[in-house]
Amino acid sequence: MQEHDFDLFVIGGGSGGVRAARMAAQRGARVALAEALGTDGLGGTCVNVGCIPKKLYSYAAHYADAFEESHGYGWEGEKPTLNWDTLKTNRAKEITRLNGVYGNLLRGSGVTVLNGFARFSGEHEITLATLNADGSPGHQTFTAKHILIATGGTPFVPHFHGREHAITSNEVFDLSPFPQRLLVVGGGYIACEFASIFNGLGAQVTQLYRGEQVLRGFDDEIRHFVASEMAKSGVDLRLNAGVVGIDKTADGLLVKLEDGNTVTADAVLYATGRVPNVKDLGLERVGVAQGAQGEVLVNGHYQTNVPHVYAVGDVTNRVQLTPVALGEAMVVVDHLFGPAAGKPARQMSYDFIPTAVFTHPNIGTVGLTEAQARERHGAVTIFRSEFKALKHTLSGSSERTLMKLVVDTASDRVVGLHMVGAEAGEIVQGFAVAMKAGATKAVFDSTIGIHPTAAEEFVTMREPTRH
Ligand code: FAD
Ligand code: NDP
Repeated sequence: MQEHDFDLFVIGGGSGGVRAARMAAQRGARVALAEALGTDGLGGTCVNVGCIPKKLYSYAAHYADAFEESHGYGWEGEKPTLNWDTLKTNRAKEITRLNGVYGNLLRGSGVTVLNGFARFSGEHEITLATLNADGSPGHQTFTAKHILIATGGTPFVPHFHGREHAITSNEVFDLSPFPQRLLVVGGGYIACEFASIFNGLGAQVTQLYRGEQVLRGFDDEIRHFVASEMAKSGVDLRLNAGVVGIDKTADGLLVKLEDGNTVTADAVLYATGRVPNVKDLGLERVGVAQGAQGEVLVNGHYQTNVPHVYAVGDVTNRVQLTPVALGEAMVVVDHLFGPAAGKPARQMSYDFIPTAVFTHPNIGTVGLTEAQARERHGAVTIFRSEFKALKHTLSGSSERTLMKLVVDTASDRVVGLHMVGAEAGEIVQGFAVAMKAGATKAVFDSTIGIHPTAAEEFVTMREPTRH
């Protein structure tokens, strides 16, 4: 007779939870996974209201430029128009398909998938809110040897007059009708991506950021460059700007700004960060330690102060990226159930995490910003190249590309690589491997380029821009 119902109970069916549950079950553990949104929620934020639908809308938005630019290549014809309802319907269909794929993968690995909101009801006990056969609220209780919190995060919206009129990234995908005038508040990933996307889809977009420049934390040159490219493509980007309040009027949402101006919009998207999803989880009941934002505090093995309780992904409020949640989940599984046959136990390193911001044009980046590199290494050498991509010699677009290498002068190691330009995410992924492997500038120089591409510029920048 087993002491517990399960070896591992995973709370949350998002990026981290699904990966941990599948891998643990494949190692022979008895695993349950609870998802509050039921089978429709499998895949979590990334699949339902994050990376995937966002990227699909970004592709949709790029078509507008593509049609325009094709004229320079001889294509003629009427300017096509966007059917927003078709886009929404097709996106929803694809997301439902992915929810099904996730469900099948879990069940195929032997995971017990449970629908309902889970909370701690005892040290090793989880209570799941469910519905009885007659539709009335019910509950089920399970015990588990180990419990993994993978409940993700939720959008944060500050308090101000008219806050109820604002939407977040959770609602933006299904707006009805299409917002012809969109006001975006924030200067992070989500704000910049959606400003670009809706601008591309044909909305008149105003973006407000409270500081000197958007995308704090990214390389300064990249921030300025992408902001100017976004503005060039039509986003009305206002810096050092903020909202006082929102009132609903016959003409739309009247937004009063701190500088005394007003903006009238059909929708106001707040993209002002995300907070950990810990409400009603019952963490106090088991004494799981939390930080100032409610984030679950963990050690290097993602173990909380309660030794049988672990946490990964956005709920730990560290690096909020899907591949990071996946990596963390695999470390937990190796730690609890041993590594895959013939493989060493996985470790997670937070150095050289590549990332892309799907602005138009994209940002791709890996490693240190110039300022961070100076602080860490002292002397650095900068290689920088700014140009018009070959495609745009005929397209008529004025879009420009920026590429930048940050080299630690003493070791010659490339410690930062940054790009603003088409497909920057696709390009930077490969370079991230080289940088993890410790590639020096000499290695970059000895690598043969692929011609004609934009990516070859990273291996042909010979003359330093500055030391
Ligand atoms: P989540 O994926 O959020 O999953 C948590 C799950 O837990 C949810 O399904 C939730 O319903 C469930 N849950 C919560 N509480 C309970 C409970 N008590 N009981 C049962 N279930 C519960 N990252 C990238 O790498 N690339 C991108 O392009 C990208 N784009 C993004 C775009 C947007 C608009 C947003 C919001 C995020 C984006 N991210 C992107 C970030 C990425 O989505 C997250 O980092 C990732 O989803 C985190 O995974 P997670 O497992 O920690 O949590
Ligand atoms: P971010 O933390 O990236 O950005 C939040 C923005 O809101 C910042 O510009 C911040 O300003 C601003 N802000 C915060 N509080 C306030 C306030 N009270 N009033 C006005 N502005 C405020 O969060 P996001 O919501 O954009 O995204 C959350 C996370 O999701 C990202 O950090 C990223 O990890 C992940 N993500 C990843 C994507 C990708 O990989 N492509 C895409 C989308 C999301 P300040 O900088 O001054 O603090």
